[in-house]
Amino acid sequence: MTDKQMTQSGFVSLVGAGPGDPELLTMKAYKAIQKAEVLVYDRLVSKDILALASEDAERLYVGKKLDHHCVPQDQINDLLVDKAREGKFVVRLKGGDSFIFGRGGEECETLAENDIAFEVVPGITAAAGATAYAGIPLTHRDHAQSVQFITGHLKKDGEDIDWQSLAQHNHTLVFYMGLKESPNIQKNLQDNGMSDEMPVAIIENGTRKEQKVFRGGLKDLANLASQAQSPALIVVGSVAQLHEKLDWFNK
Ligand code: SAH
Repeated sequence: MTDKQMTQSGFVSLVGAGPGDPELLTMKAYKAIQKAEVLVYDRLVSKDILALASEDAERLYVGKKLDHHCVPQDQINDLLVDKAREGKFVVRLKGGDSFIFGRGGEECETLAENDIAFEVVPGITAAAGATAYAGIPLTHRDHAQSVQFITGHLKKDGEDIDWQSLAQHNHTLVFYMGLKESPNIQKNLQDNGMSDEMPVAIIENGTRKEQKVFRGGLKDLANLASQAQSPALIVVGSVAQLHEKLDWFNK
């Protein structure tokens, strides 16, 4: 950010806070948080990360819980504009990466439409962080040549997803927000020919001290999900079995 950008109308830094472990913040994120005059943050941002900000910084929680939207998205968008117009350095702090299932795009659109200067600081998305800490490489020459990130917030019956193309092998699937939809995910993949024994993993609280990994085959997915707590990622694909060999965290 240049001084020119900062004058008059303030500035918004859209910062990805990573999946939980505060040491996974980028240097750029760390500096922005320390400099923040206003912090607008979500539920998935850990206390340790918030503690890095100045005591004087105004902290505004706009987190959402599943089926329980605390602050509607358009109000968050307006809040960012209003705080920037006060001439403040605003940090919009989100879990993981703001542009991956984080609605960061919509917030930037509002800022752009209102001529508010902004920057985007990428974060480690849960799919990268949680799988690394679970010892599950997303791609591997022997297992998967591609990877796909999918939202578990599906329309009824998952009709908005091309299940046939997902149910291939040599491919890793990572479902965000998928716990509740896991019976549908399991059924749709099975119906499209994926083997009952295809390895799956559920990573709960990835990269945090409380991280837990549940492992099984596709046929066990819904059952495993019923034991897991949010936030959790579902990984489907042959790479998931590598957890047994490569698990290194909390050992
Ligand atoms: N922008 C975030 C994703 C927000 S959607 C990112 O890039 O990571 C919220 C979903 O992310 C959760 O339902 C869960 O599926 C996943 N998630 C976020 N943090 C996680 C963590 N520490 N461990 C496992 N899954 C996580």
